[in-house]
Order: sequence, then structure tokens, then C-alpha cells
Amino acid sequence: MTAKEIKEKLASQNRNAYDKMTAAEIDSAYDYCEGYKEFLNIAKTEREAVKYAIALAKEKGFQEFLVGEKYNPGDKFYINNRGKAAAFLVIGKKPAAEGINIVAAHVDNPRLDLKGNPLYEADEIGYFKTHYYGGIRKYHWPVTPLALHGVICLKNGESKEIVLGEKEDEPCFAITDLLPHLAQEQNKRTLPQGIKGEELNIVIGSRPFKDDEASEKVKLNLLSILFEKYGIIEDDFRSAELVAVPVTKARDIGFDRSLVGAFGHDDRVCAYPAFTALLDTKTPERTCLCVFADKEETGSEGNTGLQSDFVKYIVDDLCRPFGISTTVALRNSCCLSADVNGAYDPTFADAFEKNNACFINRGVCVTKYTGGGGKYDTSDASAEYVSKVRTILDNGNVAWQIGELGKVDIGGGGTVAKYLARLGMDVIDIGVPVLAMHSPFEIVSKLDIYATYRACAEFFVNA
Ligand code: MN
Ligand code: MN
Repeated sequence: MTAKEIKEKLASQNRNAYDKMTAAEIDSAYDYCEGYKEFLNIAKTEREAVKYAIALAKEKGFQEFLVGEKYNPGDKFYINNRGKAAAFLVIGKKPAAEGINIVAAHVDNPRLDLKGNPLYEADEIGYFKTHYYGGIRKYHWPVTPLALHGVICLKNGESKEIVLGEKEDEPCFAITDLLPHLAQEQNKRTLPQGIKGEELNIVIGSRPFKDDEASEKVKLNLLSILFEKYGIIEDDFRSAELVAVPVTKARDIGFDRSLVGAFGHDDRVCAYPAFTALLDTKTPERTCLCVFADKEETGSEGNTGLQSDFVKYIVDDLCRPFGISTTVALRNSCCLSADVNGAYDPTFADAFEKNNACFINRGVCVTKYTGGGGKYDTSDASAEYVSKVRTILDNGNVAWQIGELGKVDIGGGGTVAKYLARLGMDVIDIGVPVLAMHSPFEIVSKLDIYATYRACAEFFVNA
């Protein structure tokens, strides 16, 4: 063989997806991302993602799953787990015992949660105390406009849904930082301590209540406004889940509009492709299941996280009416844990090992194992399963790459893969490479988003 032939036939063809895709495919990818951006702007929390997806699923003919019913090929269902996690099903022609094709993605993302007793006044300024959720870099959060999202559950059983600060004519909220003129001492702190957890206090007002006698008049005025606007009293914050998120909308990035910048790509950038791929799946051979998980960013604990038996019991509910063994169905199932990976960043090249990093625009990243410190704490997909997924992606002409998170011994990360692997199924991570991951403004490539959609679609039909 000539050198040219060796390069073409024997060497890895890991290259930019723009060189592989036709102009029409690239247009489709850009169009697809318009729907994704709309989803991002509406669904900034797990609750909003679940609500959005269930509403859309209903429009597409999905019905609420009823335990005990026998379902037929082509039937479509959704399962709502406490409004914070969800599952979507399309029943296949084959019995569940032969296995289910599962794509799981999480819809929670790093942000600031309000504490149970958040409201206070300090020196005539009103504040909310926060407890950050997930792996944030705390210095990212001051001096950026914030909106409040969430629910307040009253004692009478009523729930108040709150979204405030997203519209231009609404007030928003913000966290302060020290002026550089006075920051000499603060500047000596290390980066993780630059802003401390207890300094992430959100400014929510400054106007005192009109009364000559009372103290803490700013707080009183805020309580009065909250009662007037939402009918809530201070103790109602105890039974609330309110989060602060950046007001930023999803935006195209670059003169060429090739990238999308937004808050919370991780992991709605995998959840949306998984979900829309399922919506587009007509009566498949094997039953297809798309899972929206909560609490991934805090360790997948709790009854909406994937350390719970949420998925196992869905499979059980599918099997029992037919007298099928759930364990057999689980063991024959295969899964994509759809989760982002950290894209190689030339500005911070030192953190990456270039031969094994994932790159923006090279398509969906397949991550055989995650973890860190000697592959600790990971589900390492078998070579056999990687081969199966590889074949599906190549047969479907999906742009994909293989990559791992950063240099060995620099850090590491986890996904829900290991919790699904516990159920006995084959699992591998696939997802979109992200720049500035876990920041309030993450950046991804339009082609990679579309490749992830294509990967999920091919997997549902062919796995
Ligand atoms: Mn994450
Ligand atoms: Mn993630």
C-alpha cells in the first residue's frame, strides 16, 4: 500500500464533522437546534424540562402509563415521577423479555437553591440565602442577572409556580462582588475560595416599609410584596423549591453561528436529543425508553435520581402483566447514558490529553468509562458493547468520536451509567462535548447536538 492508502484505509478517521456531512445535513442540524434553543429557554430546571416534555409527548399521542395494563406494539406512554423525573416509552413488537433500548439523560443542572429560611435583611438590604446545587465554580455567579424558578407548596395543598426575572420588564436578582479597589485581601484567596458558599447571597430589595416604629423594614416590605403577589408568608419558604438561574437566553455563538451558548446544556443537550429521537420512533422492534433523571449533579440520590429503583420498576410494570421476568428483561436491555463530556479547550490545553479528548464539531462523543484516579468509580463498557454501539453509529452514518474527560490524574467525573449497569444491562456514555461545562454559559456545537439526536434515533431502532 502507498502512504496515502495506509492513511485512508488504516488510520483513524477522527475528523471534523463539517468534512463528513453534506450541506443539506448541516442545514438540518442548524434547523434542529432552533427547537433545542426554545426548549432551553423554557426549561431551566428539571421540573420545567419534565413539564415541557410531557406536554409535547401528549401532543404527539403519548398517554399516561397505567400499571397493570397490557400494552401493544406502537403504544406510547409517559411516566411522571414527582414532576422532577420522567420516562417516555414506545412499545416494540418484541416482548420486553428480549430487552429494552434505553436512553437516559439527566435534566437537573448546577445552580443556586434557596435555603429553607432564605429571607433576611442585612444593613437595610434584603437578601436570599442560597445553598449551591451541584459542581459550580462559585466565582461565576456574582454580578450576573439571576431569575427565580420553582414552586412554593402551601399548607392547604396548593402549589405556586414561580418564574420571575426572565422577561425584560420583570425585576431580576443579583449577587454582589467586592470592588477591585478594596479587594486586596480577597485577591489573596485561592480560586475556589474567591467567592465562598456563604457569600452567594442574592440581593432582592432595598425599599423600607413605610412605618416609623418597626425594625427590619426592608424585610417587612418584601414580606408584604410576597404576600400581595403570591399569597405566601415567610414560613412557606420551608416547603418550597426555589432556584436562582442566570437570565441568559440560549444564543448562537460566532460569526458563523456554529455554536450555541446557554445556561444548562448539561444535560438538556442530551435529554432533548434523546427525547426527540424517541418522539420520532415509529413502532420499533424492541421497546424504547427515554428517561429524564433528576439529581445527577448531586450524586443521583433520592427518589427522582437514578440510584432509586425508578427505572427498574418501570421495566417491572412492563413485564408483570405478561408474566415476564423483570430481571431477564433488564439483563437483555441495553442503554445509552446520554451525558456531556468536557470538550478540548485550546485555551486550557494543559488539562486535556489531546489524543483522547473529545473535540467540538467531531460529533457525539462515546465515553467508554468515566471516573478518575485509576478508573475508580466508573462503569466501564465492555469492548463487545462498544463494538455494537460503534456499528450502529457507523451504519447510521452518525458523526462520532471517542473521548475521555481530561488528563489522567487531573480530575474525573461520573454519570448515571453505573447505576443503570447495576441493573445488569449494558451501558455506555455518549453525549455532546461542552466548552465551559458547569458554568452559567456553556458552549456546544450545533453539529454535535444533531449527531447526538441521530445517535439516539439509530440506537432506539437498531440496538
Ligand atoms: Mn454535570
Ligand atoms: Mn451531565
